[in-house]
Order: sequence, then structure tokens, then C-alpha cells
Amino acid sequence: QKAEWEKLKNEQTVTKDGKALITAANIGTPDDVQGATDNGAEAVGLFRSEFLYMNASELPSEDDQFEAYKSALEGMNGKQVVVRTMDIGGDKHLPYLPLPEEMNPFLGYRAIRISLDQQEIFRTQLRALLRASNYGKLAIMFPMIATVKEFKDARAIFDDEKAKLVAAGTSVADDIEVGMMMEIPAAAMIADKLAKYADFFSIGTNDLIQYSMAADRGNEHVSYLYQPYNPSILRLIKQIIDAAHAEGKWAGMCGEAAGDTIMVPVLVGLGLDEYSMSATSILKVRSLMRKLDTTEMKQLADRALADAETNDDVIAMVKAATQQD
Ligand code: PEP
Ligand code: MG
Repeated sequence: QKAEWEKLKNEQTVTKDGKALITAANIGTPDDVQGATDNGAEAVGLFRSEFLYMNASELPSEDDQFEAYKSALEGMNGKQVVVRTMDIGGDKHLPYLPLPEEMNPFLGYRAIRISLDQQEIFRTQLRALLRASNYGKLAIMFPMIATVKEFKDARAIFDDEKAKLVAAGTSVADDIEVGMMMEIPAAAMIADKLAKYADFFSIGTNDLIQYSMAADRGNEHVSYLYQPYNPSILRLIKQIIDAAHAEGKWAGMCGEAAGDTIMVPVLVGLGLDEYSMSATSILKVRSLMRKLDTTEMKQLADRALADAETNDDVIAMVKAATQQD
């Protein structure tokens, strides 16, 4: 099987009926680009930039960040790299950035909430990204967006930094897509409104499931509620994808579920465009996609949404429809 997957390394990702999809890698540092290209990644769908902040003893400088983003872009050789702006807070803390003690850190001061509040940190990161945009195909996205105002505010700061750099004579790519993570149920419910402003959505199932089920993603006592195929989650995912497409935007997924062989057939049926996962899952998923017919998967997804009551119902439906065991 491994040998069969290996042959797909330089092949485009296509379904059985010829629909092109993107299989991409999640990375944490520029060093991970090697693993992404070794496994045939067609893009980097999530560069978790907080690792730059966590592997340091002080806030990383604009130049340090610039070098890291540039290296990732060059390593991907013109293929898209989606860098997520800092997602600190929740369970990720920085020794040099004091954050308040919180009763519920996952519901607290985190990600874009910090970036919009401590703008110098955010603006430094955006300048580094803008300068790096000359070295490849850069996209950026904001984590933990809950409201239209947060997205518009974040995008306005990006546009402001871009205008300042251009005015100062720095060259900046003109085609940087600016999107957002879809990982808060409130955002999913207004995906149609957000799709007017965001260039793309990337669904973060790890958090979307945690917040939808009200079940801490790291708490083993409630881990049974991590149910990616539960019709509740599938309905949110469908709503997000449909909203993006209605505005002519693309929708991806960068949570664990994007590389899951039970989830993928349903996602293909729902029309998801981009699948970003740990690099080592890419060829397995690409191989599976080549066996899937989009019309059949659409019927499967419709049945999962209409008839399934539980996570297990969906697992059984997918296994029966795709001959997986
Ligand atoms: C997610 O929430 O699904 C996601 C990809 O982001 P992270 O796991 O970094 O929170
Ligand atoms: Mg997340």
C-alpha cells in the first residue's frame, strides 16, 4: 500500500470523476516544509506561526519572522502557504508575555483577541508577512474570529500596514489572500456574512468541535464528545462551505478531521476544496480521493445529514459506501 501511495507523490489530487482537490500540509516551523514536499503537499494549508513565539525567550523580531516566512515560501516553490497569525492563549503561554489568570483559558484572552488588543505585536507580524510575500504565494488567516467586526478590524490593520510599506517603497505582493479560521460556532452561523469579507475559510475542527460540544479538547473525561461526524458538526461544516461558495470563495479544513479517511468522503460530498493535514497523511488521503465519485459522495453526505442521528451512524454509512473496514 505504501508503495502505491508513493507513486502519487507528484500526481495532482483528483477524484475518480476528475474533480481537482488540494491536499496540503500543516506545519509549525520552516523546517517542516521538507516533510511537506517529501509527501507531495500541493500547498501549506496551515503554518501555525505561534511556534516562532514559543521557541523564543522574547517576542520574535520582525526580521526573525520575515526570515522564517520567507524560508517557508521559498521552500514551497510557488505553491500557496497559508500562515495563520499568532494563536497564543488557551493552552499556549509565553514566558515573556504575561497573560491574565483565567477560569476558562479556552474561552478567554486568546489568538485574534490578543492581536487586536496588543496591536504592536500584531502589526510586527503583519509587516514581516507582507515583506515575505515577495518570495512565493502567501495567504494569511486570522484564528478565532467570532464576529464580522473582528474580521474587518483585523483586515483593516493588515491593509494599513500594507499601505504604509508600499508608501515607504517596499515591494509587496498584490495578490495576498486574507482569510479566516472557522472554529467558533457563532462564526459558522454567520458564515454567509463573513464570506463577503474573507477571501477564504479554513475550518478548524479541533476547536469547532470543542466549542460546539462544550467539551474541552484536552480533557479525557469528555473525550467521547469529540465527534467529528456528528450531524451537528456536519451541518455546521456544510453551512460554512456553502456560504463560501455562494460568494465565490474557497473553503478548506485544517483540523485533524481533514486527514481522516471516514471524514474525507463526506467532505468531498459537501464540496470542500482544500484539505490540510499532517504531511504523513497526504498520500493516503490522495489515494482514497482517487477512488471517490463526487456525485456518489454528495448522495452519501446528503444521507448523513438527513438520516444519521449519531456519530456512529455516519461511520457505518461511510464504511458501507466506500468499502472501508
Ligand atoms: C483547529 O482548531 O482545528 C486548528 C487547526 O487549530 P489548532 O489545532 O492550532 O487550535
Ligand atoms: Mg484552533
